Formats: sequence, C-alpha cells, structure tokens
Amino acid sequence: MGEMRKDYVAERFMIIEKKVDKVVDPKKFPFAPGHEAMTNPSVLSLVAREGMLQRLQDDEDEYVKNWSIRVFESKNPIVSIDSENSYSDKPFYSEPAYGYHYIVVASPNQKDTFATIDIEQWSNVLVVVQDRLRWLYTQKGVTYVSIYGDHGELAGNKNPHPHLHLLTLSTIPPVIEEKSEASHKILNEKGVCYMCQTVNEEIGGPRQVLQTEGFIAFCPWAPSYPYEFCISPKKHTTHFSKISQKEINDLALILRSTLGGLSKTIKNVAFNFVFHLSPEKKNSRQIHWHIEIYPITKPWSGLERGYGIFLNDISPEEAAEKLGAASRKELANLVGII
Ligand SMILES: [Zn+2]
Repeated sequence: MGEMRKDYVAERFMIIEKKVDKVVDPKKFPFAPGHEAMTNPSVLSLVAREGMLQRLQDDEDEYVKNWSIRVFESKNPIVSIDSENSYSDKPFYSEPAYGYHYIVVASPNQKDTFATIDIEQWSNVLVVVQDRLRWLYTQKGVTYVSIYGDHGELAGNKNPHPHLHLLTLSTIPPVIEEKSEASHKILNEKGVCYMCQTVNEEIGGPRQVLQTEGFIAFCPWAPSYPYEFCISPKKHTTHFSKISQKEINDLALILRSTLGGLSKTIKNVAFNFVFHLSPEKKNSRQIHWHIEIYPITKPWSGLERGYGIFLNDISPEEAAEKLGAASRKELANLVGII
C-alpha cells in the first residue's frame, strides 16, 4: 500500500502512490458496458427494470448487465486497507495510506459528461454516493470520506468516462480541518454560521450564479480559480448524508444546470468538483456542507504555487454574470424538457 507523509511543519499531506503492475489503458474504455471484467466486481449496479430501479451486484462469475450506474473498488487505489504498519514520527511523519477507494460510474455512455447526463441520472448518482458515504462511515479506520469528480486531462483525469471517487482517509484533510476550526471559532465568538451568513449575503447579489428552491450557486468573493463557484444549501445543514430525496433532486437540478452552463461558457473546459462535508465521527467539528467547482482554465504561476496568491483573469462578479446567463438557459431547457 501507499504511504502518506506530512510536511516538516505545515499542515500538508502527500501520498506516495503504490506502484501498480498494470494500468488498464483508458482508451480501452474500462468503465464501459461489456468491459466489466476490466474493473473489480461491482458492489452496486443500478438497473432500471419495469420502471423500477433495482440494486444488484456482480457475482464472481457473472456481471450485471444493462446498468445505469456502477460502483466498484478502484483497481488503482490511492489508499488501501491492506495495511502495513509503517508509522514514523515528526519531523519525518508518515502513516500508511489506509482506506477505501470506490469509483462511481455516472453513466454507461462514455460520451456523456457531468454536464450532459440528465437530472434524473444525476439524482440517482447522488443517491448512490449518499448510500456509499453512509456505509463507508461504518467501516473501521474511516475518519473522513472525500468525494470528488474530475473532468478532463488538465483536471487530472485520463479516463473520459464520467465517474466520481469516494476515497476515505484516516485523518481529516487539512482544508476541512481549517474550515471547521474557523467555522467553530466564528460560531463561538459571534453565534453565527459563517456559511449561512455568506449565503444570505450572496443571494441575489452580483456573484450569484443560480438559485433553486433549496440551493444557491455563487462565485466566491476571493476565488482561487477563474470561474470557480460553490453550491450550498440555503439553510443550515451539516450533513449531505442526511438530505432527503426531494433535496437530492433539487441539488441534481442546480448541479446539472451550472455544470452545463460552465461547459457552454468555456469550450472544452476541464474542472474538478469536490464535496466539503462535515466529518461524521463523534465530537468532530461541523461545517455547513457545500460543493466547490474549480474550472482549470490556465496553468499556475510561481505566485500561485509558491505563495498561495491566486491570479484570476476575470473577476468573480463578471464570471458569475456569464455563468448565470448560461446556467439559467440550461435550467430553462431542462425544466422545459421535464
Ligand atoms: Zn450554516
């Protein structure tokens, strides 16, 4: 298994990936129907039959066919439960990269993207992600579950077939730790959730991209990436794992509309999207959960990489205006189709 090391002094981790003997060439479409043998057996294959969604899984010698969503353990896992106890202390701190790494294939069609799959499919993807998230938190050694999707090679993804990663960690990632600490501090001092306050201020403002009944998409005041935006529940909610089917449908609508809008605004745009969720272990500090979308439109310079100061060639207000117009168009088309 791989090794996770921490910087001498900074709150920064890195993982040395385990060398895999044979990586399946993404050009062979290992996630496509008919190619199930190229991946690990599914733990869930969602199949529509007679208007119902059936939850099936692969047998040792038989693969479920005609699936619309498929979940399996990654063949090239970044973390693994085959643990060798290799810990070392500061300043050369390291621990085993222990955990589970699941892939959720979001569509059987490799030509689909997160910006083209329909709202119902997006809802089903989110339900599947929610289920797997709950299950992962019942497993030993799971302190945090990261959930993310990468679109395009610039976003770190060589396999164009749309898929999400659910990757567990035995520690809370620094970005989440920092957010939950800051959130906790503001809550203690001022008695408010900073995200609730942010949402209230951004609703209807110059950085709003789109809003639905329960969610708002907006470009943050100080984004790291041009056209970066965030999707947040309007009301205070700390756990994505507990949201209802109705809220999932609403989230699917805003995700699909804004990702569609982004893809219409910037041709062939690569992007990452990440779920920032509260850790679910007892006594852990909570955050108002949200999803962040990072379009990758240009390489970083020394200022970004070396100093953490980001250069944007468009203001978030201007980006929100463009994304907003395109996303509203997407939304109108989508709702029109329904
Ligand atoms: Zn809140």
